[in-house]
Amino acid sequence: MSRPPTEVVPLAQPVIGEAEEQAVLEVLRSGQLSLGPRVPAFEERFAARVGAAQASAVSSGTTGLHLALRAAGVGAGQEVVTSPFSFVASANVAAYEGARPVFADIDPVTLNLDPQAAAAAVTERTAALLPVHIFGYPADLPAFEAMGLPVVEDACEALGARHHDGPAVGGRGNPAVFGFYANKQLTTGEGGMITMGADPALKARIDSERNQGRAPDMGWLDHDRLGFNYRLSDIACAIGLAQLDRLDDMLAGRARVAGWYREALAGLERERGLGLPCPDGARHAGEQRGWFVFVVQVPRGGPTRDEVMLALRDRGVQSKPYLPAIHLMSFYRETYGYREGQFPVCEDVAASSLALPFFPRMRADQVERVTAALADVLG
Ligand SMILES: *Cc1c(COP(=O)(O)O)cnc(C)c1O
Repeated sequence: MSRPPTEVVPLAQPVIGEAEEQAVLEVLRSGQLSLGPRVPAFEERFAARVGAAQASAVSSGTTGLHLALRAAGVGAGQEVVTSPFSFVASANVAAYEGARPVFADIDPVTLNLDPQAAAAAVTERTAALLPVHIFGYPADLPAFEAMGLPVVEDACEALGARHHDGPAVGGRGNPAVFGFYANKQLTTGEGGMITMGADPALKARIDSERNQGRAPDMGWLDHDRLGFNYRLSDIACAIGLAQLDRLDDMLAGRARVAGWYREALAGLERERGLGLPCPDGARHAGEQRGWFVFVVQVPRGGPTRDEVMLALRDRGVQSKPYLPAIHLMSFYRETYGYREGQFPVCEDVAASSLALPFFPRMRADQVERVTAALADVLG
C-alpha cells in the first residue's frame, strides 16, 4: 500500500469512533445537556479506574488544579512548590490565588520535580506541594508525602501510570488532577477530573465551587461561597464514558508505539547521544509510565533542537519543543523575578527536548518515517 510522500505525520490524533458519536447523540436527544446523569456516572467509573474513593469532573485540567489548590488551603501570600518543567498551567493555578509558584529543579532521569530540591525550597509560607507526573512518568510521591505538607498531584499527563509502592497514579488519596484535552490519554475535547480520598466534605466543596458556590440543597441563585463555572457538560462526560471503554486499548496502543520508537532509535541513542525517555523503574523498581508523549533530547554538538524541528517539518514530520521552562517565560520573569541559571537541569532539558508524533493508532510505517527523518537530520 503506497501513500503519497506528502502525507504529514501529525503530532497527535485522538481515537474517536462510533461509540463516542452514539453517546453524544443520546445526550443531545435526551434534552439534558448539563448537570445530568452522565456526570456522576463518569466520575464514579473514572475513580474506580484509578482506585480513588471519589472524583469530581471539571471543565479542564487547569480548572481542576485550581479547585484542588483552593481546597488544599492555598491562598494569597503563600507559596506552592512545583516543577519548572511542566505545562504552564501547573504553576499558573498558584498565581490565580495570589500565591507564589516556587520552583525547584528536576531529576535529570525522570524529569520530575526532585524531592530533595523541593524540600530545600520549602519555607514557612509553603502551603502545598504540587508535583507533576511529567510525560506520564510517576513522580516520587512517597518522598513528597513524607514532607508533611498538603500535596496536590498534577496527573494531567499520567492516566495509566503506576507508583512503585502500588497504587495507580490518582489513587493515593491526594487530590490528583487529570486533563482530557484532545492529545491526552483520554479525551472529552476539553475536560478534567479531580480524584481524591474518601473525605465527603472535600468533594462537596469542590463540587460547590465548580458550580458557582452553590450547595447541593440550595435553591437556584442562592450561593454560600465564592464559586466558578468549572462544570463539565453531560456531552463531554458521555464522550468520557465511551473513552473509558477503550482506555486499555488506547494505552496499549501508546505503549506499542513507544516500543517501536525505542527500538528504532536505539542506534541514534548509542551512536549520536540522542536522549530517549527513561524506562519504567528508572528510579524505583515497579514505577510504570502511562505513555503520553514521546520526547527525545537532541544531542549537543549537532544541529540545534529548533534546527531539527524545521528539518523534520521539511520532511513532513510534525514535532514540538516540549516543554519550555516555565520560570523563563516572560510572565514569570517579570512577575516573580525568575532568571536563567536558577534551575540548570530543567533549562538544559527544556532547551533540547522535542516531542515526536505519538498517538495510539500510529502505524509502524509512520514511526519509520519519523525515525528515518530524524536519523537523516542528525547525520
Ligand atoms: C494538559 C496539562 C494541563 C492542563 O490541562 P488542560 O485540560 O489543558 O487545562 C496541566 N498540566 C499538565 C502537565 C498538562 O499536560
